Amino acid sequence: MRSGKSWRPERVAVIGLGRFGTSTANELSGLGYEVTAIDIDERKVAAAAERVALAAQGDGTDEDLLRSLHVDRSDVGVVAQGTNLEASVLSTLLMKRIGVPWVVAKAKTDLHGELLARIGADRVIYPERDAGNRLAHSLSVRHISDYITLSPTSGIAKLHAPAHFVGQTLEDLDIENHYQLNLLLIKRGQKIIAVPSYRERIEEGDELVLVGPDREMAVFTESHGPRPVE
Ligand code: ATP
Repeated sequence: MRSGKSWRPERVAVIGLGRFGTSTANELSGLGYEVTAIDIDERKVAAAAERVALAAQGDGTDEDLLRSLHVDRSDVGVVAQGTNLEASVLSTLLMKRIGVPWVVAKAKTDLHGELLARIGADRVIYPERDAGNRLAHSLSVRHISDYITLSPTSGIAKLHAPAHFVGQTLEDLDIENHYQLNLLLIKRGQKIIAVPSYRERIEEGDELVLVGPDREMAVFTESHGPRPVE
């Protein structure tokens, strides 16, 4: 493992190739990580074999198996199955015990997550709950494509710029003076325009990253510019 500023994990072990584990393993492989994917079900392993560096059939709670697959040399371990609580806990504990420095474990419930954190998971994730949250918030603001919850009624949202914003400058939209929102950045194709100037003009296909209350986002995205003085 390299250290210092430029450190980036290279080897990742993923245990459990359900929908979440499979998409995590595939995406990591696509990003250039060396992925070892493990599942007890050989059909899942066969399906993953073409996409990852090493796909192995076996029990992710078996320490000898993990060592024989060199999981102990991984920079990151992902315990991607959460339905079997005992296996989820054991895999997490084992990965930490054999020396994986950063273990991310998937939880189904708060209690499950707390347990994983207590036994050493470095990060606990709740993909189902997060997906539900994103969907719930995106119903109140239709243009939202991604969302991070900050409080029950506010967050950071990535949204497609509404068609009626195209051609307007940020000055025209006057976000910060008329709404309790901050525009953090504009994503234009692959380009990120961080802290955009008020002269920046919205183009078709732009995505905006805003922080603030959901209600303000809803009003803003329906608006055509500065909120009229009440
Ligand atoms: P998802 O919602 O992502 O599909 P899930 O959290 O509901 O997954 P399961 O469907 O229970 O989890 O399991 C995900 C995968 O983990 C399955 O392919 C299963 O075969 C595998 N799995 C379960 N227990 C183990 C284990 N002990 N070792 C390795 N793989 C396991």
